Amino acid sequence: MNMMDEPRITTPIPLEDEQQFDQSLRPKQLDDFVGQQKLKDNLRVFIQAARERNEALDHVLFYGPPGLGKTTLAHIVAHELGVGLKVTTGPALERPGDLAGILTSLQPRDVFFIDEIHRLNKVVEEYLYPAMEDFNLDIVIDRGPHARSVSLQLPPFTLIGATTRAGLITAPMRSRFGVVNRLDYYQPDDLATIVRRSAHILSIEAEETGIHEIAKRSRGTPRIANRLLRRVRDFAQVEGDNTISAGTAARSLEKLDVDQNGLDEMDKRILSVIVDKFKGGPVGVSTLAVAVGEDSGTLEEIYEPFLIMEGFLRRTPRGREATALAYQTLGVKHSSISQQKLL
Ligand code: ADP
Repeated sequence: MNMMDEPRITTPIPLEDEQQFDQSLRPKQLDDFVGQQKLKDNLRVFIQAARERNEALDHVLFYGPPGLGKTTLAHIVAHELGVGLKVTTGPALERPGDLAGILTSLQPRDVFFIDEIHRLNKVVEEYLYPAMEDFNLDIVIDRGPHARSVSLQLPPFTLIGATTRAGLITAPMRSRFGVVNRLDYYQPDDLATIVRRSAHILSIEAEETGIHEIAKRSRGTPRIANRLLRRVRDFAQVEGDNTISAGTAARSLEKLDVDQNGLDEMDKRILSVIVDKFKGGPVGVSTLAVAVGEDSGTLEEIYEPFLIMEGFLRRTPRGREATALAYQTLGVKHSSISQQKLL
């Protein structure tokens, strides 16, 4: 089997059976949403202001790596505004008619959430501009000589867009969002709070040390933290006494190939390919992608941000470079390599 086909336990993308857990663990209000303090403080003000004026909230864009809470926030915003929510994804809006169908079904001040908004097709995107700006939708009725354009006035609504690839959002699209928020990876303490909360909801017994062990290995990502919690629970049940201690957590995660830093097989593969095959880099992302057997979009979107944030990888104009920390983690001597380079 190709490595790419195997779901990794540390992927930030939801696994097949996970949607239902994501739902049950999803905080419903802003107060229950852990971390991202500045973003929450700002949102709270904008939501209150819109409510007091009885207006639709400005359009909001959330961007950042997968699993950090963009969809959750869209639900929370609708809930806190006390309005309805319609959900879709960029690729699902294939034709302008798909967009018109949703937009014309909105109630005043409703939230319309488009996940993966960077994958909207260009034609649909063009229709979205006047809808966002003037709540106006020009649709073409009939074909050929009878074709005519009809302008529909829409109720004021809030578009919330989410994307993992902010760089792929066109400038005209981006400029139509009044509120643009970046979600950052979570600190271990915030992740611990999330794990503690999820353990409580799922009635899982966990010691503080066990909670922190899981948090530390979750790649700064709530979705991964919740997943690791459930897998560790299985080990605690079968091999332990049903309680998650630091020992159970560490042993289970070791068995699942998640190391102390949350690095998994693929991360290590990326780093060791750069170090062994490309003498530490720099190496271009598409060459690197071929060498590790992964597509370059996934590499850029999923693996790199975490490796860069944790200081294992550096992005330079000439390509990706392994850092001293990467050498140390792989147990390869850094100095010998740089000396080779100097010769
Ligand atoms: P994204 O849309 O960014 O991929 P989601 O909103 O689907 O991420 O979140 C993934 C999972 O992580 C959900 O189950 C959600 O409940 C949980 N989660 C994300 N952010 C937080 C947070 N700040 N506090 C608590 N749980 C969170």
